This record gives sequence, C-alpha cells and structure tokens, in this order.
Amino acid sequence: MAEARHAIKVSKACDVKGCGSEAERSISGDAASEAKLKVDEGMKRVHLCKDHYREYKKVSRKDRELGSLGR
Ligand SMILES: [Zn+2]
Repeated sequence: MAEARHAIKVSKACDVKGCGSEAERSISGDAASEAKLKVDEGMKRVHLCKDHYREYKKVSRKDRELGSLGR
C-alpha cells in the first residue's frame, strides 16, 4: 500500500543535561548516576542518545574491570 505511514513516534530526547540529541536507549537512573552522567537525581529511567550511551558503557565497563582485579 502506498499509504503514508502515520508514524506517531514520539522521539525522546537524551536526558543528559546540555544534550538535546535523540535518545536511542534508556537505562536505569541508578546506572546513570553510577556512570556519573549529568542527569536529574531521582530519575527512574534515563534516556540516552547514542553518544552518551557509549560513554555510559565505557564507564561501566571500566568500573567492572577495576572491580575484578583479583588476578
Ligand atoms: Zn546525549
């Protein structure tokens, strides 16, 4: 069908302060504050754009590596 799709896709904006990019992922508020992302405190769900999600992943991975330096 050639009917135009009525995409009512409400694109969320990234919740990091100063960033207005379109959010692609959402993480828990706890995870966001652990990754030291600049978001409002007390948020249950934080939306992140691609860049900030990458940043979050980077930080959380580093955290994990530091935490498992057993050997
Ligand atoms: Zn962002």
